[in-house]
Amino acid sequence: MNNKIMTAITVVILLGVVIFGVYSQRQDQAEDLELEEYENTAMMLDTVNTLRTYGPGGEEAVAEAFSRLEEIELLLDLYDEDSDLNKINRNAGSEVEDINQELLEVLSLAKEYAEENEGAFDPTIGALTLLWGWGSEEGPAVPAEEEIEEAIQLVDYEKLHLDKEEGTAYLEEEGMILDLGAIAKGYAGDKAIEVLREQGIERAFVNLGGNIVLLGEKPDETPWRVGIQNPRSARGSAMGSVDISQEDLIDNQIAVATSGDYERYFDDNDTRYHHIVDPATGYPADEGAVSTTVVSENPSRTDALSTGLFVLGLDRGLELAESLTGVEAVFITEDKEVYKTSGMDEKFQLMDDDFVIKEWQ
Ligand code: AMP
Ligand code: MG
Repeated sequence: MNNKIMTAITVVILLGVVIFGVYSQRQDQAEDLELEEYENTAMMLDTVNTLRTYGPGGEEAVAEAFSRLEEIELLLDLYDEDSDLNKINRNAGSEVEDINQELLEVLSLAKEYAEENEGAFDPTIGALTLLWGWGSEEGPAVPAEEEIEEAIQLVDYEKLHLDKEEGTAYLEEEGMILDLGAIAKGYAGDKAIEVLREQGIERAFVNLGGNIVLLGEKPDETPWRVGIQNPRSARGSAMGSVDISQEDLIDNQIAVATSGDYERYFDDNDTRYHHIVDPATGYPADEGAVSTTVVSENPSRTDALSTGLFVLGLDRGLELAESLTGVEAVFITEDKEVYKTSGMDEKFQLMDDDFVIKEWQ
């Protein structure tokens, strides 16, 4: 064979390899778009929980994740008399032994986040939330001022002492009560994703009562679009969205959580009393925000921050969010003004022109 023929054959073979390469890549993409989707929803943790997976093995993985969520519900439920959480509460003022290690882990995360939130998120808020009657059979009502003054004295995360090695917990004052409502769903989301990953799932959408965790890229490779509830419209109507693309994922995941005064509230004498309590005043937080959305890698931290930033309010909240690495936030005010951290600029899309984006200074 002369050299010319050899070269011609080589070129044909190489072209074939290149064309086949492109073709099989196309095939991969086409298959990606058709990734098997599995979704299931269950009531737990006092809310609606949806788990959706893309790719094989979804049904089994979701079932595993739901059993993990059941475990966490038992662990963190304030209203379950027999929980370890209530063992600590009932014995406030003295040390409690044999505490479940996972509960100690959640409590130590909660303490860490209380610190980060300058005490605006405080897991020892229970004396106040119970006084307001959240979760009670009679329903919530405005307490007497003196009662609020007394309950405030019982809220202080620095008086929660934990010893993981000994397995003990200690609330310094009698009457102190732990309430993990502002972090439970985030923690649960964290663990749900962990289970899905262990089960080999690479792409998933987890929504635990508005605490969202995204795993991997969306199968059609467009950004994930997480709606932000219009705080003054029917549930399900979004005023904007946070768009998450591949570059926004950290360790292949991201969490988005919103805290809002519309989640739980009652009206009395034309005043709205909602469920997020300011530990400094004992009253529903009222520092300029009616909704706060947080985006960060860690779902527990994101949940704690959404509540903490809500309490800190527009000025202090934005300042804190801007100062934290890997944390972005959107605040909405009663007047439908929208404020956001600088890293939100490319992510946030306004969808309702009743709202206006404002610059924060
Ligand atoms: P979230 O929906 O995450 O903002 O959590 C709200 C829930 O957290 C409430 O229903 C209470 O159980 C609890 N909570 C209210 N105020 C606070 C606070 N300042 N710090 C910690 N937890 C709170
Ligand atoms: Mg929260």
